[in-house]
Amino acid sequence: MKALKFINKFRIILLLLIMFGFSAGSEAIGKSDDYAAARKNMVLYQIRHRGITNPDVLNAMESVFRHEFVPEAYKKKAYEDRPLPIGYGQTISQPYIVALMTRLLNVDKGSRVLEIGTGSGYQAAVLARIVKEVYTIEIVKPLHDCSNKLLKTLGYQNIQTLNADGYFGWSAHAPFDAIIVTCASDFIPPPLIDQLSPGGLMCIPVGPPFKVQHLVLIKKGKKGELSTKVITSVRFVPLTRKQSRKEE
Ligand code: SAH
Repeated sequence: MKALKFINKFRIILLLLIMFGFSAGSEAIGKSDDYAAARKNMVLYQIRHRGITNPDVLNAMESVFRHEFVPEAYKKKAYEDRPLPIGYGQTISQPYIVALMTRLLNVDKGSRVLEIGTGSGYQAAVLARIVKEVYTIEIVKPLHDCSNKLLKTLGYQNIQTLNADGYFGWSAHAPFDAIIVTCASDFIPPPLIDQLSPGGLMCIPVGPPFKVQHLVLIKKGKKGELSTKVITSVRFVPLTRKQSRKEE
């Protein structure tokens, strides 16, 4: 009799959990996730089928709600195979490029990572699912404010944001195990090289603004020696050196 009562209680609790959205490990706990199928398809067809199989990267891409990071008007397009506008002339990168750069950094749960170009905060959120600490810098104040607020609302406690020119890195928290630059530069900013740990990796699009650039992976050897590898062609918004005044 006691056992029966217990089973009934258990069934009620299970039913309540299902009714109110039991989304352990995913974002927006308690909210319904209308995009779960779209996100699964994105991971399978855009990322896994293109050769990225690292479980940490796939799990992170599947658990971050990309639709929370795009403007209302683009939510339905959030899982498409392309970048999307986020205002102020900037874009959130194509999901595959986010996964590729994350994979290239070869980070794990002990890593401390610096990102230049917070934008929507999406790349930072993906990294935060894998690493110990993410430091991210955004030059456009309204974008910084918006992504900072969103990341806090979503409960990310291992991401620190800064509104500044990322060219100079973030010396107070250096050195970093990995550095990811999500805006294109004609050359690799020397302060970022200085702030990379020996043995660390940096991923950066190098090339002219608004033209085809090269995604470059830089490794700093144990004695500080650098080696570079061109990964693929990309098109990123430029790394700017002054606060953008253009508003949308
Ligand atoms: N990682 C972003 C993509 C951002 S697009 C995401 O996941 O959404 C590139 C961003 O770099 C833009 O928001 C742009 O404002 C920013 N940026 C450009 N130059 C910068 C600089 N010198 N320092 C910091 N951020 C910069």
